[in-house]
Amino acid sequence: MSLNDVLSTIDSNLPAATDRLLELLRIPSVSTDPAYAEHCQTAADWLVADLKSIGVEASKRQTPGHPMVVGHAEGAAGKDGPHVLFYGHYDVQPVDPIELWDRDPFDPAVEDTAAGQVIRGRGSSDDKGQLMTFVEACRAWIAVHGALPCNITFFFEGEEESGSPSLIPFMEENAAELTSDIALICDTGLFESKVPAIITMLRGLAGIEVEIEGPSRDLHSGMYGGLVRNPLHVMGGLIAGLHDENGRITLEGFYDDVPELSDDIRAQWQGLGFDHGKFLGDIGLTEQGGEVERTPLEKLWSRPTCEVNGMWGGYTGDGSKTVLPSKANAKITCRLVGQQDPDKVLQSIKDYFEANVPSDYKVSYKGGKGAPAAQMSVAHPAFEQSRKALSDEWPNAAAYVGCGGSIPIAGFFKDILGMDAMLIGFGKDDDQIHSPNEKYDMESFHKGTRSWARILDEISKG
Ligand SMILES: [Zn+2]
Repeated sequence: MSLNDVLSTIDSNLPAATDRLLELLRIPSVSTDPAYAEHCQTAADWLVADLKSIGVEASKRQTPGHPMVVGHAEGAAGKDGPHVLFYGHYDVQPVDPIELWDRDPFDPAVEDTAAGQVIRGRGSSDDKGQLMTFVEACRAWIAVHGALPCNITFFFEGEEESGSPSLIPFMEENAAELTSDIALICDTGLFESKVPAIITMLRGLAGIEVEIEGPSRDLHSGMYGGLVRNPLHVMGGLIAGLHDENGRITLEGFYDDVPELSDDIRAQWQGLGFDHGKFLGDIGLTEQGGEVERTPLEKLWSRPTCEVNGMWGGYTGDGSKTVLPSKANAKITCRLVGQQDPDKVLQSIKDYFEANVPSDYKVSYKGGKGAPAAQMSVAHPAFEQSRKALSDEWPNAAAYVGCGGSIPIAGFFKDILGMDAMLIGFGKDDDQIHSPNEKYDMESFHKGTRSWARILDEISKG
């Protein structure tokens, strides 16, 4: 009995596995709309029953919102690999605008396309299809070996698409039950739809709204212009001063907690062959911004940003009004990396504005919230074992990659349960998650399932 038996079982079970996924996709478990609350219960029940059918001790756990599903299965006797927790979410995004769908979002089907077979329907890629890759791998493993190769905890959430309000309290209340050696999260994609990827870095975020108030009221620009400093000009100058001519952010101490990439990660990123010309071309651009001495992937994944998301003030209606406005406003957010502390970054923004506005101008702030970046220590052997397993399954070797956005769940596992998390997923860039006509490639579903079997095999060897 070997991994090959599990892989061939996955191959022969693919039609039945697809049918099971279609069944789950028919349940309209939209988490954000209270009208669908009952369907979220049904989806959780479906998952409990499915886990039980393969011998996992599973239950639906109520929360103030939609329920969690938690399951436990012991590994075969004599195996002492790590205890693994798997996370996925069964809730889905709303379907609007419904008229742009080519089929009923909750009447999913397998479709033949020029690029191969796809499973079409809401949640097929985000995240029911991805979640089921892991369950199907476990099903095949148990069918062949009678038990899983290591202890596994299954943890499925039903509020991911609506801000996960119950997640932190649930993790805190059930910390002892959920804490394992490593978390596997399947809610991401292949790099450029082709390179299997383990996300080890996620940028954090800090944001604040700034208001500069100059004169005590809006003024006539004919009577006051020339003598009075225009708050919009002051704001514009200060915003421009946030970056120097080389694209570096000028805030005091901003780069103190920004680490350099290791040579190994740098080499892996170079090996990805990222085509930044195409990346920019797809949005109608040709020239890069950002720090001049950094590579495009560094700029997207491992370097911090300071971005203005909106600026307003004065008269913005039709026609003209010769006003010298009293106030100017801007919304600023920073993507954070490494050990950058959101509170420290927000303070440095305030210090910058206060030090540089004219002395008789007032600065005030609204909001001021943040979350640090998540950086996984790849020291846990499961990382290298999983990278090997993924490289064995896919035509391209797997790489550790970064993610420019924020996926809070990874940080929660670290902060609340003290576990490192591996984000591994098989979605493709054109899956249209959160949009009409969402799909999941049959290749993603099939090879994703096979990937988990290989990962479990590698990890459980210890
Ligand atoms: Zn998702």
